[in-house]
Amino acid sequence: MSHSFRRWLSLGLVVSLSLGAVACSQEPPVASPNVLLITLDTLRSDWIHAYGFQSENTPVIDGLADRGVLFENAIAAASLTAPSHGSIMTGRYAREHSIGTLNGESRLEGVETLADFFRQAGYETGAFVSNVVLRRRIGLDRGFDVYDDELGKSEENRPAYFERPAEQTAKRAIDWLTKRSGEKPFFMWLHLQDPHGPYTPPSDYEGKVGPVPLRMKSDLSVLNRNTGQAGIPAYQALPGVADPAHYAGRYAEEIMYADYWLGEVIKTFESRGVTREAVIVLTADHGESLGEQGYFFQHGQSVRPELARVPLIVVAPKVAPRKASDLVSHVDIVPTLIDLADLSVDPETSGISLRSSFTSDRTLDSRVVFSDTEGESGLYGQNRLTRVLGSALSSRAVQPGGSIQSESLEETESGAWRPVQIDTSAVEQISNYLDRAVELVPVGAMAEEHIEQLRALGYLDPEVGPDESNSKTPAQGTP
Ligand SMILES: [Zn+2]
Repeated sequence: MSHSFRRWLSLGLVVSLSLGAVACSQEPPVASPNVLLITLDTLRSDWIHAYGFQSENTPVIDGLADRGVLFENAIAAASLTAPSHGSIMTGRYAREHSIGTLNGESRLEGVETLADFFRQAGYETGAFVSNVVLRRRIGLDRGFDVYDDELGKSEENRPAYFERPAEQTAKRAIDWLTKRSGEKPFFMWLHLQDPHGPYTPPSDYEGKVGPVPLRMKSDLSVLNRNTGQAGIPAYQALPGVADPAHYAGRYAEEIMYADYWLGEVIKTFESRGVTREAVIVLTADHGESLGEQGYFFQHGQSVRPELARVPLIVVAPKVAPRKASDLVSHVDIVPTLIDLADLSVDPETSGISLRSSFTSDRTLDSRVVFSDTEGESGLYGQNRLTRVLGSALSSRAVQPGGSIQSESLEETESGAWRPVQIDTSAVEQISNYLDRAVELVPVGAMAEEHIEQLRALGYLDPEVGPDESNSKTPAQGTP
């Protein structure tokens, strides 16, 4: 596809989606709160001070926890960026939406998102993202008036991977916030990338935490790949640095840097909301392995707790600060925000509103939540995990004792996870879950709905079908 055609395509989509939004907007009730959804990339909960991390590297997040509900046992829907965000935005598990478990290779289609719901309710909607796999091609831009995915900087060691440091993303978000008149409520999604490797905190953050000893004390060699066990992934390697504690310290310092800019955005967000109440939800898309199972400084290879346990903090009007031990999931974010903003929609999700956890721990022993990555599906109960592993998971293959491997783990009092007898009922539930998997939509293929929108705007020859559209130039038209 030519570059200019891509430009036509994106212009066409923006125009058509905006027209659609105007047609179905309602006047929002005066009491509607402003809503800020924050997702931090690659932030395992136990590296946040409010969740027990030794250094005070997260004063802003700790401040949110001081005035909201901190969920101690929040499970990521996936351990890769795009699948997790698909779940955060739809309330569906990774295999229930068309991004699936792939990172940037398939796109969200055929389902409304949180941004759609807020825009339909008359909200102004803006998203500011910092990771290349969240670019609009994966479909998470739907429902947003502004979807700012301009990533100007290449990752160190991987020039083909673009990202945006917290300062730049935060300044764009602050700029958007200061332009809101206050007449309408707004919904903003802020995504900060910094804790993601390579761990390169700005120089004024270097040494602020210092080396953090991990269980593995000896020096690591550098792998010749970006994934693998018992070494430093190639793209993470810092010249002359082999001590794992040094990498871990820099991870904590990147978190500290993101935390600072998060604070700047929150200050502006709250200064805009003088006439309205404010709701803030903070989470991370997934964690990071820091030596567990021999994996260092990477994610996506498993659904184990170091990758699945993420922060979830909710700040809302009339909600007293507390810690909640309920087992909760990314898929609960959509129903919870719909509830808190009192939106009149009832989408089909796999989550529940967490409002009742704001006042007391419920008995949720029977609750289970799913977590996925490529080639692996897991089922979490309270302090229990059953994983089913296989390169091409399908329900037929998922049988105990079959060629697919499965294991059950239980968390001990000390926080370690030990193998226990395989929970066959959990394997059965994973099997049923895999049966519900929806078809993926590859990013390369243009969805029929979008082709129709382009056709309606005169950008495409009426005869061009989905399979041919990539190879033909657009019809001449006015931009
Ligand atoms: Zn991520």
